Amino acid sequence: MEKISVEKTASRGIAVAKVYKYLEPDLSPSAGIIADSETETEIQKFAQAKADVTKELEALAAENEIFAAHLEIAGDFALQDGVEAKIKDDHKNVQLAMQNTVEEFAALFEVMEDEYMRERAADVRDIGKRFMAKLKGITLPDLGGIQEETIVVARDLFPSDTVKINPQLVKGILTEEGGVTSHVSILAKSMNIPILVGVTGILAKLEDGMPVCMDAGKGVIVADPDDATLAEYEAAKEAYEKECERLKSLRGKPAVTKGGKRVYLCANVGNAEGIRNALPMNIDGVGLFRSEFLYMENTHFPTEEEQFEVYKEAAQLIPQELTIRTLDIGGDKSLSYFEFEQEENPFLGWRAIRISLDMKDMFKTQLRAILRASAFGHIRIMFPMIISLEELRQAKEITKECMAELAAEQVEYDKNIEMGMMMETPASVLLAEEFAKEADFFSIGTNDLTQYLLAVDRGNKKIADRYDYFHPAVLKGIEQIIRAGHKEGIKVGMCGEMAGDAKAVPKLLELGLDEFSMSAGSVDYVREQVLEFPG
Ligand code: PEP
Ligand code: MG
Repeated sequence: MEKISVEKTASRGIAVAKVYKYLEPDLSPSAGIIADSETETEIQKFAQAKADVTKELEALAAENEIFAAHLEIAGDFALQDGVEAKIKDDHKNVQLAMQNTVEEFAALFEVMEDEYMRERAADVRDIGKRFMAKLKGITLPDLGGIQEETIVVARDLFPSDTVKINPQLVKGILTEEGGVTSHVSILAKSMNIPILVGVTGILAKLEDGMPVCMDAGKGVIVADPDDATLAEYEAAKEAYEKECERLKSLRGKPAVTKGGKRVYLCANVGNAEGIRNALPMNIDGVGLFRSEFLYMENTHFPTEEEQFEVYKEAAQLIPQELTIRTLDIGGDKSLSYFEFEQEENPFLGWRAIRISLDMKDMFKTQLRAILRASAFGHIRIMFPMIISLEELRQAKEITKECMAELAAEQVEYDKNIEMGMMMETPASVLLAEEFAKEADFFSIGTNDLTQYLLAVDRGNKKIADRYDYFHPAVLKGIEQIIRAGHKEGIKVGMCGEMAGDAKAVPKLLELGLDEFSMSAGSVDYVREQVLEFPG
């Protein structure tokens, strides 16, 4: 038994389950030039791997059309010919032949004119991985394939991994890397999964299948607990669940302070499922719909129709406002089907509104989908990472262009749709008064605002103790934004993680924040703070 303490926590909950180590295996080919006499054996190995991969993909294809496409590529004779030629003619072993062929294939797709075809390069590489795993006798880890209750332990998890998680089975997450506001933390919280990040050395301390206990609120992990500790954690889990029940009883009350100020408690979500999860908390709307998750879950840029269906379903689920943030990709959020150039500082690089304004067709596809869905509910549009009035104006202009197109096509949309912006860059704080004259609402993104104001990377565990949204500079920035917004009579919300931190609520109420938007799991705690606030 070993007890491990973690300094910084940003989640709640207690979990007791077995370890599932999520490690990217080494799939590099073993180097090897073979003799003539070995070619037949290597070709046989390929045939076996192909049969195994096909069987695996057939099972997956029954449930998901992405894998049906993979199945087709895996069975392509050009792939087989490529591998066999490299074995026979170049005397390469099967692993090397496979890797070279996959790279050739992917390169062919990458230079194609058609965007959809270009995106297939990622599929080819994915299939290559599957083949290579078979050839090397390795089982690929798959978070979506977890079958029993586990605590996932990983070096780091990317949003594209996290979206595959089934919260019924993944009871907790422990990662070596990451910060409390990195996207893996946010996603885990939105799924109500206890998470501890930045836990140095945890992979070496835990074995696959080993029992482990964790208290995310206190920042404690116990590896291989003895019976007494197990009993203690089971009891703590029960007490935690009781406390959750007590807080649940407050859900019927609207969020009004003792002094009579009504504030709005909203949810941050990534899809319609997130709204369904949040509805029982009696939310006042969705303050942040992270539309990028729709893009990340896909194998191609989602079409207008695909997006429309998702936004429409979301709008119909929530009678109050649904704030859809336009694509905020880049930074730590990537797409499997779109190659981002390597950047020195991705968080200061090509991300969010910068990408949307540069890829106008893609932006218009999303805006048209949002506008069409606005005929079915109360949608607001929110632009991320704005640093200048020109950007805000351009984004609004493009939205208006889409409105004009829809009007000409006689398609319904909300003509008075509000267009607001995330306040998450130092420039937005300094120009808050100017922005307030042109934006319909503000939403403070403290996750980025903190990292940019303090020059502290939100995902770097080495400086995690310096990442602090209670820093006077951040509080001053928040105060200025709220003051500027109120001066122009617009609503100021917050959708960064600070809004869901019960300890921050009194300060934010004092500063006059109108709307708190947070992970569903935080709503009960924030409501309690609001109800007890004297002002
Ligand atoms: C933020 O920066 O506070 C925010 C809500 O956006 P994201 O965490 O998605 O960058
Ligand atoms: Mg942000």
